Amino acid sequence: MRFLGHFACLGTILLFSCQSSTDTTPETGQAPASPGWSLAIHGGAGHFDTEVLSEEEQDAYRRSLRAALERGGAVLESGGTAVDAVVATIELLEDDSLFNAGRGAVMTAEGKHELDASIMRGEDRNCGAITGLSGFRHPIAVAREVMTASEHVFFSGPGAARFAASTGAEQAEPDWFTTAKAKARWERALARDTTREKFGTVGCVALDKEGHLAAGTSTGGMTYKRHGRIGDSPVIGAGTWADDRTCAISATGWGEYFIRTAVAHDIHARMLHGGKDLQSAADATIQEEMGALGGDGGIVGMNAFGEPVFSMNTPGMFRGAFKAGGTPQVGLFASDSLAP
Ligand code: ASP
Repeated sequence: MRFLGHFACLGTILLFSCQSSTDTTPETGQAPASPGWSLAIHGGAGHFDTEVLSEEEQDAYRRSLRAALERGGAVLESGGTAVDAVVATIELLEDDSLFNAGRGAVMTAEGKHELDASIMRGEDRNCGAITGLSGFRHPIAVAREVMTASEHVFFSGPGAARFAASTGAEQAEPDWFTTAKAKARWERALARDTTREKFGTVGCVALDKEGHLAAGTSTGGMTYKRHGRIGDSPVIGAGTWADDRTCAISATGWGEYFIRTAVAHDIHARMLHGGKDLQSAADATIQEEMGALGGDGGIVGMNAFGEPVFSMNTPGMFRGAFKAGGTPQVGLFASDSLAP
């Protein structure tokens, strides 16, 4: 079905061979069998290691990541779309105060929450995004409404809130979002007058049983961000991208650098136009483009065959993957191979 879509889209057999050669198994040169469905997530990248995170904190992150994978996996297993799975997975992470999205999101310089989210589906590259949204529990659900229920792709600030209200999106009081951890971060940033402390954005990529990809990202942005600052997470092509011909990508890290190097789209373009596989495309973009400018962070990606890929230039990235017939696998530190 996916391949028929490719022919219809570009009307050329060339693309079929390009698709087949971009992500093939080294042993056979053949495309790996589709896993049926596949899901991968991140919960932010950053400068954390076993010194920074206690055993208890590590366990808590692993539990939360597994729960999110199980939620999204259940949606895909029951025949839900990749978009359904991305939204369900990210909603759980938005409600989890361990992460910098929804509840637990970092605070702006003025001590408020201004949330960003975006979603994109690979089937037709439709997408939706919101930035500077306050007062709504699930920014990712609002981004989905922008994609499916509006003729636009991006709403900001009061306009985003007005749109969210018009769709009946669930509202939440400012207190819902504030946690002691986010407040303490804000106070430290206030003392130093800096935005550098920032990680914990969440993201998800998925392949559904129909062979369609989707990607989504949700964040509070960077602690102590200035009035109206927009990071990469809601910017389609920087923080999020999905195209059934190549890959789905969700990014996390120092947003300004991810925008300057259009990270998510750059990875896609290396695959589509350069014939790269997802891992080498992602590594080149993260190391040679974004990282070379001085930025830090990483991505979770998935190719059209449901192979999850991670790439980062930080010591840590909360992450996980789960395929049909498998068990949820999670990792925290760059050196971790994913483990059940
Ligand atoms: N990329 C997000 C931003 O710059 C922050 C993060 O991913 O940690 O807003």
